[in-house]
Amino acid sequence: MFKPLDISDKQENQPATVSETERVKCLIIGSGPAGYTAAVYAARANLNPVMYEGLQPGGQLTTTTEVENYPGYPEGITGPVMMEDFKKQAERFGTDVRRGMAVKADFSGSVHKVWTDDNKLIEAETVIIATGATAKYLGLEDEQKYSGGGVSACATCDGFFYRGRDVAVVGGGDTACEEALYLSGLCNKVYMIVRRDVFRASKVMADRVMKTPNIEVLWKHQTKGLFGENSMVEGATLVKNKGEEGEEEVKIKIDGFFLAIGHTPNSEIFKDYLKTDGTGYIQTIPGTSKTNVPGVFACGDVQDSVYRQAVTAAGTGCMAAIDAERYLSEKNA
Ligand code: FAD
Ligand code: NAP
Repeated sequence: MFKPLDISDKQENQPATVSETERVKCLIIGSGPAGYTAAVYAARANLNPVMYEGLQPGGQLTTTTEVENYPGYPEGITGPVMMEDFKKQAERFGTDVRRGMAVKADFSGSVHKVWTDDNKLIEAETVIIATGATAKYLGLEDEQKYSGGGVSACATCDGFFYRGRDVAVVGGGDTACEEALYLSGLCNKVYMIVRRDVFRASKVMADRVMKTPNIEVLWKHQTKGLFGENSMVEGATLVKNKGEEGEEEVKIKIDGFFLAIGHTPNSEIFKDYLKTDGTGYIQTIPGTSKTNVPGVFACGDVQDSVYRQAVTAAGTGCMAAIDAERYLSEKNA
């Protein structure tokens, strides 16, 4: 179950003065499933990884309660406990896990430079970027008020809790359509709250939505707020035709309110050196974790606009550590 939180690591900080320069074989930036899995593999390969956790130690899963789809936990597990286990496993093999975040990078030379918010300059032979992505929210106070009580930014993660119930999905892009279609297979009814009178989504996705009998699209509707007793969502107040003739307030009864208005990958400080797509996702060579800069690897949600799951993040974290190990072996051969 989802507990929203403003967790985007502020990346605009700049290092003041450098108090210490340190040379490392493998620097891992980010401590979600991707970062910790990379750490386990890198540590076991004697790369002596140093990890900076960022503002959200443990990553996105620390904002959720039950995780039921990560293999190996037949009874499910809470996100914070699972991430504590990831950390213990990484530390068991010698990962140096540090508080703090990367605030600046320079990947122009053969040694990769990363500055941290404690004024250190890390000179790394390899860098594994595992900084994740942050779901966008509407910015309503009610998103916080009903956190853990029906507000979610991940239908695949939380949809199961709303089987047979009525829910709403906000957004008109491919993600919103995908989330609505997924939820339509579990829920009694799915409203899509779309702020314009057209989808942004591809035609094929839009067609699928329009053909699904238990999805109702509320065109030109915007969310004003949520309501419900005991911080549990029981409905949403919407505004139809906002700012136009015929503006009216509409209430819908729902138990779940799913945001699908996009994600922001946490790649800002790397953008001068790494190829990213239009949204900011780091581009990797297909089938690998390699970026366009030799020795710099990316894994998890920061390079994945499609799957965005803990298990895929962990899988690509493993790939990044193996790619880093092979890069060093070849370089030092
Ligand atoms: P993240 O988990 O996002 O971790 C990113 C890390 O990078 C954080 O530690 C952050 O502090 C750090 N960081 C960012 N910038 C910097 C910086 N500049 N310097 C240093 N560190 C930095 N997936 C599932 O498979 N099952 C679920 O049930 C599930 N439930 C979810 C529930 C919620 C509420 C949310 C939001 C997501 C859920 N997901 C779930 C998706 C899953 O959490 C993500 O796919 C996964 O966490 C991505 O892992 P990651 O390691 O790439 O990044
Ligand atoms: P997106 O394409 O940017 O769409 C975001 C949607 O949210 C738009 O409909 C937008 O409305 C709406 N929105 C944004 N801010 C809003 C707000 N404050 N209030 C209400 N609505 C708001 O994002 P996405 O759907 O996450 O897709 C991102 C990329 O991944 C796209 O390139 C997409 O094609 C791709 N993707 C592809 C697939 C697939 O092919 N299966 C699946 C998922 C994602 P407006 O249209 O009015 O701006």
